[in-house]
Amino acid sequence: MKVKKQSKVSRKAIAPVAGAICSAAETQAVVSAVMSVNKNGSEKKVLIGSRVADQNSEAAKKRNYLLDDWNGGAFTVQRNNFKHKSLSSWSANPVVGCMHACPHCYVSEIVLKQKAKLAEFGVQDPDGEWGDYAFLRVWHEEKFLAALKRAEAIPSKDLNADGNRAVMYSTTTDAYQTFRYGNADFRDEKNAQLKTMRRRSLQLIRDESTLNVRILTRSPLARQDFDLYKSFGNRLMFGMSVPTLDNDLSKAYEPHSPAPTQRLATLKAAKDQGLNVFVAIAPLFPDCDDEDIRRTLQAVKDLGVMTIFVEPINIRADNVERIAAIGRQYGKNLKLDVFDSLERWREYAYDQLKLVQRIARELGIAK
Ligand code: SF4
Repeated sequence: MKVKKQSKVSRKAIAPVAGAICSAAETQAVVSAVMSVNKNGSEKKVLIGSRVADQNSEAAKKRNYLLDDWNGGAFTVQRNNFKHKSLSSWSANPVVGCMHACPHCYVSEIVLKQKAKLAEFGVQDPDGEWGDYAFLRVWHEEKFLAALKRAEAIPSKDLNADGNRAVMYSTTTDAYQTFRYGNADFRDEKNAQLKTMRRRSLQLIRDESTLNVRILTRSPLARQDFDLYKSFGNRLMFGMSVPTLDNDLSKAYEPHSPAPTQRLATLKAAKDQGLNVFVAIAPLFPDCDDEDIRRTLQAVKDLGVMTIFVEPINIRADNVERIAAIGRQYGKNLKLDVFDSLERWREYAYDQLKLVQRIARELGIAK
């Protein structure tokens, strides 16, 4: 797999399918796209990411140090600067790194900004080692509250209009991941700390602010917080990433995440409990055809979600090489030729978004 040199893609190229499309009173389908691509993606060799290694291997055991407390900054709410995405105005990211290790993830490029700090923690290659490290941010209640108060003080007119004055859990990690490195006691302690941080921070947002909350996860673990979500009333919307309902295809693209059918069942459970739910069909796999997308959208329609968020795979960092490596590992012949050139990628992104929009219209969930 070679990725040719690419430059920033003009949003004009996708204008017809970007933005919000609305239909029935309760249903708002938002089709948006982020079209930034890696400027340095030329002629890279395929990397076999260490995330594909057996977690019980000697190499994996030596990675115990890659799970620790991140003293490079406390867990707070932080203003995000999404320009083409909706759903939130602030991010709440309790972890640096992500154990879900999705090969398509481009957060590894974002964390490169913290390369020096990560090196102090033993991460030499934040992109190549993506999925093998996760640092739990430290919890300072006073700092969290101070950041919350600062956020609360910002007038709505100074925020992105489609951010809903909402805090998103999470945008550069999954707040419902499970740490899998370290001995059992250490791991259990960190997982318990993460749970406590999630719940306490949500309680503070609920009780000490008027901000809304959006939860986006790939993990059914979120069920353990449904009671808390319900206490927010209409201030909270719960969502899951469901790029496809084909568990087999998902295994090739997201091998460490719970199966999409489990995610759909979690969404249904949330809906049954009276929660407002949304779905992120993100990222759109190039292999998803009309039938696949129709199945996902029909299930989403049956759920009665409030919002659908759609995004193609963006070429950033080494994510295309990672997808190729995982595809080979699972013996999957994935449609990765769409990443061969900027033109091919643009065609894939545009066509997939148009396809989603067309099917959404046919199913009556978009205008
Ligand atoms: S769950 Fe989200 S943040 Fe985590 S690896 Fe997957 S795409 Fe990245």
